[in-house]
Amino acid sequence: MSASPKETLPRAPGGAILLDGKAVAARVRAQVAERAAEFAARHGRAPGLAVVQVGEDPASSVYVRNKRKSSVEAGIVSFAHDLPASTPEPEILALVHALNHDERVDGILIQLPLPKGVNADRVMDAVDPAKDVDGFHPLNTGLLAQKRPRLRPCTPYGVIKLAEAYGLALTGLRATVVGASNIVGRPMALELLLARSTVTVCHTGTRDLRAEVERAEVLVAAVGKAGFIPGEWVRPGAAVFDVGINRTASGKLVGDVGFERAAERAAWITPVPGGLGPMTIAMLLSNTVDAASLRAGRRE
Ligand code: NAD
Repeated sequence: MSASPKETLPRAPGGAILLDGKAVAARVRAQVAERAAEFAARHGRAPGLAVVQVGEDPASSVYVRNKRKSSVEAGIVSFAHDLPASTPEPEILALVHALNHDERVDGILIQLPLPKGVNADRVMDAVDPAKDVDGFHPLNTGLLAQKRPRLRPCTPYGVIKLAEAYGLALTGLRATVVGASNIVGRPMALELLLARSTVTVCHTGTRDLRAEVERAEVLVAAVGKAGFIPGEWVRPGAAVFDVGINRTASGKLVGDVGFERAAERAAWITPVPGGLGPMTIAMLLSNTVDAASLRAGRRE
């Protein structure tokens, strides 16, 4: 992992290499299915994942459906909890407590956003950290910050696994994360630090975003605005991980980075869709089997 940026970031002739999240995620899911079957053979039950959705946000419903379908395909038992948007917070908390104590449930996922009026932090904090397969609990974020990761936030973990799958060594590279949310930008910075990159995090307080992006040998965009980072800003030879998922007026899904121009300059780039979306789901399933194994008192 100590190759110089020059060695690790060759220019792809004729354009950037597409980092195929769909293909890599399929491989991760196949490994998860093997581990889930081994777990079931050893413990007499399959790993279980509870997915809680409150309300009917259409984008959330698509994600939740995908997560439930993919878990069943990987041999994970799916427990569906769909609550109406009007559900009072104490009732959501009561469900979380019940799931915490349900021995069949190894992972608990609360689909965000929660309806207005519900304190999302309070709900997420109530999840047993040992079942926190999203990796959002302060304990799991704290463990990642302290270089001893346990259950890792799925999208940032997916970026690392995708880089690994392509032999992209991150050590020593100048990495810039645009976006600093608790679920993507911040844990992404911690993952890159763990991978020994030199990390910069940009956010709404950043003075000269263009200069920061132009320096980046690894660029992770997690802003949530279509084409927010012009492709012209991308450093030649960079690796670009576009986490953004934005729907245009014509209904097309696009990322945060102007893809066409960026792909002419970058050495590696993720497509949207087909990049970090499938990786995120694959890492969720992987975390669920990890959680089941950890709870069973051993890591498989
Ligand atoms: P968020 O709204 O919580 O955070 C956005 C971040 O962008 C903030 O930290 C903010 O400071 C920063 N930002 C906003 N405007 C900026 C500006 N002008 N200059 C610099 N920084 C700016 O969003 P999020 O939950 O982190 O998600 C970001 C994107 O990633 C969204 O498009 C979301 O849909 C997508 N996402 C994708 C996956 C996946 O599976 N691929 C998973 C989670 C989120």
